[in-house]
Amino acid sequence: MSVIPVDVLKKHHRVLAEYTYELRPVDRGYANRTLYINLSDMTIKEKPVTEEMKRIFTGGRGFALWLLWNAVKDDTRWNDPENELIIANGPLCGILSYPGTGKSTVVTISPLTNLVIDSNVGGMVGPYLKGAGFDALEIQGKADRDVVIVIDGDTGHITIEEAPLEAPYAHLSARALTEMYARDEKDLRNIAVVAAGHGAEFTRYGMLNFSWYDLRRKEVRYKQAARGGSGTVFRDKRIKAIVVRKSGWGAKSNNAAKPELIRKASARINKEIAELDDKQNQMRKVGTAHLVGIMNDYDLLPVHNFQYGSHPDAHKIAKDVWIGLFTQGVPDGCHYGCSLSCSHAVDHFHLHTGPFKGQAVLVDGPEYENAAGLGANLGIFDPNEVLELNFYCDTYGLDTISFGTSMAFAMECYQRGVITREHTGGLDLTWGNFEDIIEVLHQMARGEGFGLIVGQGVRWMKEFFVETYGADPQLLNDIGMEVKGLEFSFYVTKESLAQQGGYAIANKGPQHDEAWLIFMDMVNNQIPTFEDKAEALHYFPYWRTWFSLHGLCKLPWNDIEPADNALQPEPHKVPEHVENYCWLYEGMTGIPVTPDDLIGQSERVYNFQRVFNIRRGSGRRQNDYPPYRAVGPVTVEEYESRRERYDRQLKEDVGVDPTGLSTEEKIRILREYRMNRYEQLLDAVYARRGWTREGIPTLETLKRLQIDFPDVVRVVKAALEETGQ
Ligand code: SF4
Repeated sequence: MSVIPVDVLKKHHRVLAEYTYELRPVDRGYANRTLYINLSDMTIKEKPVTEEMKRIFTGGRGFALWLLWNAVKDDTRWNDPENELIIANGPLCGILSYPGTGKSTVVTISPLTNLVIDSNVGGMVGPYLKGAGFDALEIQGKADRDVVIVIDGDTGHITIEEAPLEAPYAHLSARALTEMYARDEKDLRNIAVVAAGHGAEFTRYGMLNFSWYDLRRKEVRYKQAARGGSGTVFRDKRIKAIVVRKSGWGAKSNNAAKPELIRKASARINKEIAELDDKQNQMRKVGTAHLVGIMNDYDLLPVHNFQYGSHPDAHKIAKDVWIGLFTQGVPDGCHYGCSLSCSHAVDHFHLHTGPFKGQAVLVDGPEYENAAGLGANLGIFDPNEVLELNFYCDTYGLDTISFGTSMAFAMECYQRGVITREHTGGLDLTWGNFEDIIEVLHQMARGEGFGLIVGQGVRWMKEFFVETYGADPQLLNDIGMEVKGLEFSFYVTKESLAQQGGYAIANKGPQHDEAWLIFMDMVNNQIPTFEDKAEALHYFPYWRTWFSLHGLCKLPWNDIEPADNALQPEPHKVPEHVENYCWLYEGMTGIPVTPDDLIGQSERVYNFQRVFNIRRGSGRRQNDYPPYRAVGPVTVEEYESRRERYDRQLKEDVGVDPTGLSTEEKIRILREYRMNRYEQLLDAVYARRGWTREGIPTLETLKRLQIDFPDVVRVVKAALEETGQ
């Protein structure tokens, strides 16, 4: 594929709108204003950040939800012009001396769920946006042609530019735009780009690549805001890219109130990482891909559309293989200064298919989710095939998780005879058939064939297969791995009731960043009762939400642990690191906080998001159920693959002797028992969270959390009346 030179691209950039603003220093972590752009009428304006916004919503995801709440109507669809795409950073974003402080959160109404999606992402966009003067960027309306938004934080100048020629591939457009807006080679590091890709135009799970410039490799690298279709919204608005420039951003740029506290926390964690990472998870060598072997050992690695939890070939895509393939010895932080440095890459990877066939490229990743979802769950155990799928998902702007789970669902449907070769356009979707799997991916980017069907996601396919091909709805509902319309990320939850709830109750849908309790629940048996599980499903989703309010990465919280962590009273909370975060917050804002205060910040935003879901017609008990495959065995093969375990549970837990019962009968009894336990879990979680039995936050809860704004109360009162409570 020939690449258009940067000067030719630039010549075709015509300025459609521009705006000049006053540059101001960041104050105690806040820029104290947000930027609003409307692409329909080319409005560009600033909005103030109020003290109330900071007190109630903190920043990051909190700010974004509040802005979106005020921008949309109750029935706004994802592709209506009033839907917004919001990118927010947070008060601790851009500290840089502490690992994991470069995150942005993207919020929009999702094409997959019709609910609010939040997706957090690394790269340098978040810090540079703040440095340019904004705590959030709010984009509404739709352009009538392809545009690039350029925010120059050095000059205080914003432009919306027509951009007709940029390649529809993220790895090319991000590189070209970085070169186009850098004054010279030294300036390349001061540019960060948001870019989607061609695939985002034809699917519902388009994602966004957020870049940073890799100084050692001299390459533009990127991380993904992957979940929920934010890239699809981006392209629907005809945005090709967003470019942010800020030079001179450094450790002091946040103008922290008590920098000595930030230095104290940074020194402590950086020492731990230097001394302990090699003995613990080896994040600096392999990143989250170290999890593949562990998940396989505990029967938690999804295989063949989550039917099974392990596979004899899993070692072929496990830790040691990735350590060998990743370039070692280079700092791989996704923001400058991240000492946990887990964003690994394979350099000079030779592609065998698609528009870049024969070229050597850099592949960012894979992380655990990619290895599991593009590998084991599709029956692929060749690391080169995983890498090729990973590269094309990224450059086409497609979420690897939704692609992997949607593809696996289509493959199981094919192998169960629900769909045939006739429906797939001749493709043979048997497990591990890489050639035809990657053809589906290429079709998504070309907007043709069966790729268009798989690109609509699991929920859409279920309805389509039932209506068009007469498929059995019960079977498809049981094996279609989605909740609320979002595809599952890659953990088998059958033996962890708490994780089933963690996935299915999550506001955005089943994504592990909100709740991940498998080890506490299943492996270590630390939360045996319903009350214990409810307590964990109170604390951990709120705690994990906290990171996205501040512009932080969760990984340095518990993917590295202090040497004496196991001796602490609540080791799973990693108390020393929570203390670090209290120091960071006080150090930045000057406001002393306790660990409970941090949870309080999240609880407000989390409950507000729940009410946002209620406003959108969801957020009730009926919306919090997982597909049965996430709870127990759906098919005879699944039951038989773990017969000993299930027979024992029938005998010991259910009180039914399995002897002489057919497998179908055993499946039915086990299902009744497990779903009954799931109902009890929902009751316990809702009670602990201050919600009604229907999952609606009570008026007292809203008041306690100080989110009882008239509009919020209106939504909740209507839902309470509707559910008779
Ligand atoms: S820990 Fe990894 S993902 Fe998190 S900020 Fe650092 S490099 Fe990025």
